[in-house]
Amino acid sequence: MSERPTTTTDAGIAAPSDEHSQSIGPNGPLLLQDHYLIQKMAHFNRERVPERVVHAKGGGAFGVLEITEDVSQYTKAGLFQPGARTESLVRFSTVAGELGSADSGRDPRGFAIKFYTEDGNYDLVGNNTPVFFIRDPQKFSDFIHSQKRRADNHLRDNNMQWDFWTLSPESAHQVSFLMTDRGTPFSWRHMNGYGSHTFLWYNAAGEKFWVKYHFKTDQGIKNLTGEEADALLAVDADVHLRDLYETIKRGEHPSWTVQVQVMPFEDAADYRFNPFDLTKVWPHADYPPITIGTWTLNRNPENYFAEIEQASFEPANLVPGIGASPDKMLQGRLFSYPDAHRYRIGPNYLQLPVNRPKNAVHSYNKDGAMAFVNPPDPVYAPNTVGGPAADPELWKGDSYEVAGEIIRSAYTLHREDDDFGQPRALWEKVLSDTDRDHMVSNIVGHASAAEVTADTKKRVVEYWRNVQKDLGDRVAKGLGVNGA
Ligand code: NDP
Repeated sequence: MSERPTTTTDAGIAAPSDEHSQSIGPNGPLLLQDHYLIQKMAHFNRERVPERVVHAKGGGAFGVLEITEDVSQYTKAGLFQPGARTESLVRFSTVAGELGSADSGRDPRGFAIKFYTEDGNYDLVGNNTPVFFIRDPQKFSDFIHSQKRRADNHLRDNNMQWDFWTLSPESAHQVSFLMTDRGTPFSWRHMNGYGSHTFLWYNAAGEKFWVKYHFKTDQGIKNLTGEEADALLAVDADVHLRDLYETIKRGEHPSWTVQVQVMPFEDAADYRFNPFDLTKVWPHADYPPITIGTWTLNRNPENYFAEIEQASFEPANLVPGIGASPDKMLQGRLFSYPDAHRYRIGPNYLQLPVNRPKNAVHSYNKDGAMAFVNPPDPVYAPNTVGGPAADPELWKGDSYEVAGEIIRSAYTLHREDDDFGQPRALWEKVLSDTDRDHMVSNIVGHASAAEVTADTKKRVVEYWRNVQKDLGDRVAKGLGVNGA
């Protein structure tokens, strides 16, 4: 007898044939009663869930976070206590491309991590850059629209991109990163990850701190030049997905050194930069990064769709010891990520194996599409019949005082909050001569696309002159803009 299992319908009933539909005679029409055929065709039509509007193309792996240092004076979060080991999942991605787009394009890379902690899931949903293009979620959908496709011809359009960026000077820091070779990483293994936002940490005594996360690649930073990245577009659209999968399959386990910058809670009020502005870093000299542990990837997914495409990360998953900051972009993302999952996967997305926490769930949320694990009675709180009850003590420290007028304004209380100072520091103090040459040629190449208008080119030059005069002059020369 064959070892092969018998094919079945999805209801487990033995299938009549792997090849032949049921027909009336050899040339007769097919029968509606062929349930096996109908089920196959109908299910095929429903194979795709809506792709992510952003970060559609990606890949991931499982791993472990190991804490080697003692930061219990800053946070009581279980996963950051000395010696803690926490299983995790990462999803790397490009931002603007669609599901089948090429990995090597110029784009920030998503760096989304889910930690399956004893206290529920903690998700750190960052990028390979420490900053972002905008600082207010009001502009997010407009920004993404400018990076995606036109309404009329469905083409991506560099004019649209520069139009948005030059009218949004807060983008200059992130666009600077994007136009260096860090905008085209060699692989996902060879890039740093940043939590990007500022988060709140609080310790067992309820004392508070602000933190930023840095995951420094132990493989070393390695990037592609613009030409190398362009060439790869034509050769292998899945180069980063393939690299990660093959590396882990070979038994090599990429790792990152995990660091945090810690700011005393009271410093935030009169720090020279707004510490909650996602377009800014905290200079290392002000708040030196502290190493807290190692994060290693050691296991490939076994089923891409089940474990990566349906993986749902949300910055709102914050465990006791960690809280949100007033970073406006973070505040917007706290809503928009779980909302995207409810739309893409359905309201019970957290019940899927890859998304569900390792600890027991005692929630009063019930029913809805695909309710696989439904809570028992009682179905309401408060109750007198022994249902789950919240423990506010766990969250002591997750609170701070805020007062002020309700406004819509960009005004800031911090003295160095201009949009160009930090990208200028990147250009003047951090980049090598080669880095600068590549940044100029990447900007010039990108802004030389046929659709970029003469007016936009002038604004591109002005934008970069605001960052740094020499940089702007070199861009002007490359673009052939008057006044070079
Ligand atoms: P530092 O000289 O202390 O740090 C500069 C940091 O820049 C490095 O530690 C490194 O961080 C990063 N870096 C090095 N080479 C490159 C490169 N080619 N492209 C992009 N980043 C690079 O200076 P500051 O902390 O005062 O920051 C100065 C500028 O450096 C900032 O305005 C910002 O543009 C950039 N930067 C700062 C970071 C921060 O968190 N303070 C992080 C990254 C960049 P890493 O090891 O994280 O790559």
